[in-house]
Amino acid sequence: MTDTPDPDAVAPAVDSLDTIVSLSKRRGFIFPSSEIYGGINAVWDYGPLGVELKNNVKRAWWRAMVQERTDIVGLDAGILMHPQVWITSGHVGSFSDPLVECGSCQRRYRLDELPGAESLSATELRETGIVERLGLVCPNDGGPLSPPRRFNLMFTTHMGPVEDDGSVVYFRPETAQGSYVNFKNVQQSSRKKIPFGIAQIGKSFRNEISPGNFVFRMREFEQMEMQYFVRPGEAAATAFEEWLPRRRAWYEHYGVAPQRLRFREHAPDELAHYAQKAIDVEYRFPFGWKELEGIHNRGDFDLGSHARASGENLEYFDPATEERFVPWVVETAAGADRAAFTFLIDAYREEEVRGEKRVVLGMHPELAPYKVAVLPLLKKRPEIVALCHRLRDDLARDVMAVYDDTAAIGKLYRRQDEIGTPWCVTVDVESLEDGAVTVRDRDTMAQERVPLEGVKWLILDRLSVARG
Ligand code: ATP
Repeated sequence: MTDTPDPDAVAPAVDSLDTIVSLSKRRGFIFPSSEIYGGINAVWDYGPLGVELKNNVKRAWWRAMVQERTDIVGLDAGILMHPQVWITSGHVGSFSDPLVECGSCQRRYRLDELPGAESLSATELRETGIVERLGLVCPNDGGPLSPPRRFNLMFTTHMGPVEDDGSVVYFRPETAQGSYVNFKNVQQSSRKKIPFGIAQIGKSFRNEISPGNFVFRMREFEQMEMQYFVRPGEAAATAFEEWLPRRRAWYEHYGVAPQRLRFREHAPDELAHYAQKAIDVEYRFPFGWKELEGIHNRGDFDLGSHARASGENLEYFDPATEERFVPWVVETAAGADRAAFTFLIDAYREEEVRGEKRVVLGMHPELAPYKVAVLPLLKKRPEIVALCHRLRDDLARDVMAVYDDTAAIGKLYRRQDEIGTPWCVTVDVESLEDGAVTVRDRDTMAQERVPLEGVKWLILDRLSVARG
């Protein structure tokens, strides 16, 4: 099931990824990690604005998935877990991608990302003679490529002072396993009845073969995953269908244009070993339609496997029907970095205003790094500056508010537009007399005069309306 058949029929929000990469660097959203040492591939650092954006994305997800629901509770499990977890989950045996290597330049590629191999089926990707059959060569120097071999994506380290085989532990490649092994702890302590969910946000690590496209594919990243425990069979299928529109609507609510979202169902031979059914929410990135979030019906694979391997009884007892069963799991697996990246791309606009280019991040106010900027019309008047600081300090008790006086007012507005600040408050000479200030709206650029004491309530009220 792909509900938008032609991938080129929908244009991306920006033509070139470079626009977003350079804005991110220039304005302090995202920097390459360890840049002064030449960087480290596929790790990115969030600057002053980026950390606000990503925190806001995580908060928005948590609100929708935990705070506003009565049937989902949170968890924050460790990144390092008992190594048996990853054997039982199947990650040690099969969490791998097909890797091919160039015989002349030694570059390595993920087979399904090579030009000419993007639409191969999962069965074809395992075929030893596939490189030869398709005549694939190295995109870098045209050299010969090796047959594909499976490359495990988990990072390992050693726990304790002895670095031998017995001390190997894995950096988690997903947060989900923490929810499965804590199923009983959470269910019993929270007294939740099925259906109920466990939500987690946290770092995951994957030794991706070909990371890239900025923060789209990283080796260290953050996930926002929810495991919904349900009755087996029909109930799981129904829950799966219910989560699909809900998750897609979340992206739309926070500003993603509906035409740049679609569902894509995994083909039977593409399904992960645990999955009964899987549908991705995809977004039209500047580099094509790609996964934003995976929604999976995982059957009883997770609790069933952990129960067998650990010897713990992970059955649920339903007091209403007096039945015991191993719950099935419906999972919604999203990436915090990928979501923040998507909101950033989709909010980007270039407009012409009075013959000048205006760059605006038309972000949902809840996601914007700063909610409000307080700006003096004349920075040489100490009373104006003092009033600005008093106002900013008061606003900052409730929202992220920033003061800026490093340019003329027109330029200050443009700077705030470019980082998505929904409201600017300007204090001028008249403010000293009439106790009113000008509030400017990012999107309409409309200005209104508001009494000082009403500014905070106006902003909190508009934020609340936008939250919906
Ligand atoms: P892909 O097919 O792109 O490798 P996946 O199907 O393995 O992804 P999942 O295991 O379903 O991805 O992970 C859930 C979510 O976590 C993804 O939808 C994505 O948003 C995020 N994610 C996964 N891998 C990465 C990564 N390397 N960098 C950033 N985010 C990631």
